[in-house]
Amino acid sequence: MAMAMRRAAALGARHIFLAASASASSTSRVISRRHMSSVDAGAAMEKIRAAGLLRTRGLIGGKWVDAYDGKTLEVQNPATGEILANVACMGNKETSDAIASAHTTFYSWSKLTASERSKTLRKWHDLLIAHKEELALLMTLEQGKPMKEALGEVNYGASFIEYFAEEAKRVYGDIIPPTLADRRLLVLKQPIGVVGAITPWNFPLAMITRKVGPALASGCTVVVKPSEFTPLTALAAADLALQAGIPAGALNVVMGNAPEIGDALMQSTQVRKITFTGSTAVGKKLMAGSANTVKKVSLELGGNAPCIVFDDADIEVAVKGSLAAKFRNSGQTCVCANRILVQEGIYEKFASAFVKAVQSLEVGNGLEESTSQGPLINEAAVQKVEKFVDDATSKGANVILGGKRHSLGMTFYEPTVVGNVSKDMLLFREEVFGPVAPLIPFKTEEEAIHLANDTNAGLAAYMFTTSIPRSWRVSEALEYGLVGVNEGLISTEVAPFGGVKQSGLGREGSKYGMDDFLEIKYVCMGNLS
Ligand code: ADP
Repeated sequence: MAMAMRRAAALGARHIFLAASASASSTSRVISRRHMSSVDAGAAMEKIRAAGLLRTRGLIGGKWVDAYDGKTLEVQNPATGEILANVACMGNKETSDAIASAHTTFYSWSKLTASERSKTLRKWHDLLIAHKEELALLMTLEQGKPMKEALGEVNYGASFIEYFAEEAKRVYGDIIPPTLADRRLLVLKQPIGVVGAITPWNFPLAMITRKVGPALASGCTVVVKPSEFTPLTALAAADLALQAGIPAGALNVVMGNAPEIGDALMQSTQVRKITFTGSTAVGKKLMAGSANTVKKVSLELGGNAPCIVFDDADIEVAVKGSLAAKFRNSGQTCVCANRILVQEGIYEKFASAFVKAVQSLEVGNGLEESTSQGPLINEAAVQKVEKFVDDATSKGANVILGGKRHSLGMTFYEPTVVGNVSKDMLLFREEVFGPVAPLIPFKTEEEAIHLANDTNAGLAAYMFTTSIPRSWRVSEALEYGLVGVNEGLISTEVAPFGGVKQSGLGREGSKYGMDDFLEIKYVCMGNLS
């Protein structure tokens, strides 16, 4: 993973930001668009700073701290290349201290009543909502997603805190009918302990709250490692957690050298659980690394979502749903439709209506109101998309729309539709994680199910059909953790999110989302007669 790390001089973030903005003026269309955006970005940064939410140090034991060796890393705006801030670049030592602080705090936090923890979480939720705009601006600036999507993510992210504040009060045990008359058998559910939460850049807030919400609600304490691409949203959210009264040490944030931080978390005997969202490759490493200390592991890994459009689909519903499932966050989510399987009878009709809908997507800086497609996260992401499209065309697929970098430059890529994609192409086999929709023709329902399941991934799947029996049959046959029927956006805090096969372990959100943070204890009380 390419990460811009520098031992930068200790310049204030504002200084760096303005210096970068000043260099962005030029005569070309690309640069002038960039310059216009940087003006907006300057105002946005001012707003965030004025709210006290521009944090650049890590959070350990309730204190904002620099990296012990003074190292920093640059956080860039992918839409403009401007440096937004330099944040602390931490490693093993800081992570060990964060773990120690979480471990000490565990004893007091877990002893509070569920109601007390619930009230504090509720306050955090309210603060997240109260600062919706600043958080959304931060997300658009460091991640690139359009403001509308960023505002949606703040609501979605905050909803996990609200949901688990409520759920904290419903961690019920059991009483088991005894096998001997003088005994009573009880089941208690207790917090697992210190949790290491490692999160990605594509949802800078929601992937954190989806983990930290149930962890804190159940009485666990947490060390969060956000992505080095998007630490600013994480740090702002942590600031609001402190303001809400989450005690010092219950929520710690470290970022910087990912393998070092990961190793410190995995090697610690005090960390009892690792919860991770990110690539399958890193997830496998974390799972292997956790074996030595036998930690519980939850993994939300890559997907390769099929989106099946049957002949009997309502075409309008199918176009709207697959467009939403494919192009959310410019195709950079693990539940994005990765393969659009279209039945022969509807292929031409669907393809032309879908292309028309894709043409209406506006690419640009997420701060501009009309934008629905932001930039990709970095140059490596664009190169991956280019490689996948080249591979497909070299094997006989045809680009129907787009298929190249956008004239805006930077990491903008044209919303793309590729026709006649087949099983031997990278676009079929792997997650493209970009704004490219491959259309794959099929003949029968059996063939569609076979193609859909022909992958090691198993996170989300979608289907469009007006047949109720078919929607049951196919839902049951799909080897996926989530299935959307006639719907392209299905994630919600009240439903379980997670994958099967190599897409992961465990479920997040919903009442099931608490289980991974709880241990079951059986208590046998004897000689009661
Ligand atoms: P992506 O390719 O989507 O960025 P990654 O799996 O590389 O996905 O990143 C997800 C998270 O995992 C990020 O916070 C990243 O810094 C972190 N990460 C990457 N490599 C490691 C590692 N070796 N140990 C621990 N965390 C890691």
